[in-house]
Amino acid sequence: MADIELILFDIDGTLLWPKGVGRESTRRAMLEIFGTDAGLDGHTFGGKTDWFTLHELLSERGYTEDRIGQMMPVYEQAIARHLTAIIGDFSVQPCPGALSLVAELRRRGLLLGVLTGNVSTTAPVKLRAAGFDPAWFPVGAYGSEAADRNLLPFLALERARRQLRRSVMPEQVIVVGDTPADVACARALGAVAVAVLTGFSTREALVAAAPDHLLDDLTQFAEALLPAERE
Ligand SMILES: [Mg+2]
Repeated sequence: MADIELILFDIDGTLLWPKGVGRESTRRAMLEIFGTDAGLDGHTFGGKTDWFTLHELLSERGYTEDRIGQMMPVYEQAIARHLTAIIGDFSVQPCPGALSLVAELRRRGLLLGVLTGNVSTTAPVKLRAAGFDPAWFPVGAYGSEAADRNLLPFLALERARRQLRRSVMPEQVIVVGDTPADVACARALGAVAVAVLTGFSTREALVAAAPDHLLDDLTQFAEALLPAERE
């Protein structure tokens, strides 16, 4: 395995369990900004960017993908405000092994990032609620930056290069997520794909997506992916 330089984590179902707070804050923000929460109850979020979700739910009402993009700054403000107001009422939790893995990766000096469908304003609120300091993830690519999730790893890689002030190759990047869309995202970049079974996909769906590593949860990450340290 090439020396890994950057590890990009999905948030929901990978680092933490949002316990419904994403759907409820989305509902409140949609009602405020678009006047409807059309179709949200039956909506599957897993692996989608929030931009994609909004377009999917609102396209019948005439909202193009570009129009959603134009409204994104005001939407981001609204959803962050709603999320912050209600998140204390939801028992947001870190996924098994997530906090200790992040601590171990930081101890090893690896650059960490989030690669998430959440918009840029809500990701840090969710992270904090689950016990993560957003500053532990200096690189970020968010669901407010593109409707197509597969564009996000390229943004993250560019930001990592700027942080590190050197070249980082796609094969030196690990993308960790809980859905086939996360695996596709890793493949789009040419990164190592790690899938975890703690989230919003079935084992069958993740096996079919053929990640490089399929883990029950993040407690298995270090043994599967980190080189043993010499004394
Ligand atoms: Mg996820």
